[in-house]
Amino acid sequence: MKTQILSVTPQSLAYAKELIEAGEVVAFHTETVYGLGADARNDAAVQKIFALKGRPADNPLIAHVHAGFDITALVETPAYTVRLREKFLPGPLTMVYPSKGRVSRFVSSGLPTLSLRVPSSPVAQAFLRTVDIPIAAPSANRSKHVSPVTAQHVADDFDGDIPLILDGGPCTGGIESTVLDCTGDVPSILRAGLVTREMIAAEVGACEVYVPHEGEKPKSPGMAYKHYAPSCRTAFFTAREAEQAIRCYLTEQGRGGTPYFLCEHSFLTEHPEYRALDLGETPWEMAARLYAHLRTGERCATLLIGIEPKQDGGVMDGIKNRLLRAFGRSEIREKDV
Ligand code: AMP
Ligand code: MG
Repeated sequence: MKTQILSVTPQSLAYAKELIEAGEVVAFHTETVYGLGADARNDAAVQKIFALKGRPADNPLIAHVHAGFDITALVETPAYTVRLREKFLPGPLTMVYPSKGRVSRFVSSGLPTLSLRVPSSPVAQAFLRTVDIPIAAPSANRSKHVSPVTAQHVADDFDGDIPLILDGGPCTGGIESTVLDCTGDVPSILRAGLVTREMIAAEVGACEVYVPHEGEKPKSPGMAYKHYAPSCRTAFFTAREAEQAIRCYLTEQGRGGTPYFLCEHSFLTEHPEYRALDLGETPWEMAARLYAHLRTGERCATLLIGIEPKQDGGVMDGIKNRLLRAFGRSEIREKDV
């Protein structure tokens, strides 16, 4: 199969609709990362997504709809969710609701809930309006690999396996949407992202952050998996361990390897002599650059050395969560240092 990368035109949208109606899978730009979409009502089409990604069957997908879609046809909507939708949608917030069971059971991996997202990307909106059905879509990467933030990243994982990538340029958000459980009395964050706990609590009074207990099956099954991992060797240090990180770099270089740091800008200004992938200064810059840098790192580095940024809270929670899961922290430090 030839994979076409097309920008949004009346022709490419008509082709995307034709593919979706035929049960095919179409990758599309969103403001967070690229998605791999199929008709959420079609069992075979949804299963095709799991097969292409190599995604475990117990890790549910998010259903994407356009801004004018009547979501009450799909889910129950607790009263406090009205305010959250008004404030944050369209945008990088996925809300998990009690499901009415109107989409394929494979979307929710058998859970009684359905997660819905209304992306703000004009490409995603045009695509979703054209098809006018819920589109089940996880991130458009092979399972466990780094999420894609350009059309080329999608092609790097799926060239020849999917017919179409709707190109919208680089994703400006850069990390996956916040996943918010809205099935209880108080909303609870299952996955941190650009819409933060503080922002949600400011609208509805309270917001919890779900932390699975030791041994408990997590409410958001995806969080149980190692994820976002670059394919090169990696090491990870806190900001206070900079000296150790530098020793690690020099050891790798001494062995004839090509180490790179992945670090915030301030580390680079102190140590301009080293090869590095610069995450920038603000949390939003770091989110936007993180996955592209992880993919560059796996192409260029024999050892990618992550240094944890100093700031905490807000959007940084989402970035640190992705960093820790990409670098699988403790096991790697023991192995490589
Ligand atoms: P991805 O689409 O690859 O960004 O992954 C979607 C994330 O949303 C995963 O972490 C899933 O576990 C989570 N998710 C999707 N649907 C549900 C649901 N119904 N309940 C809880 N978590 C969900
Ligand atoms: Mg994913």
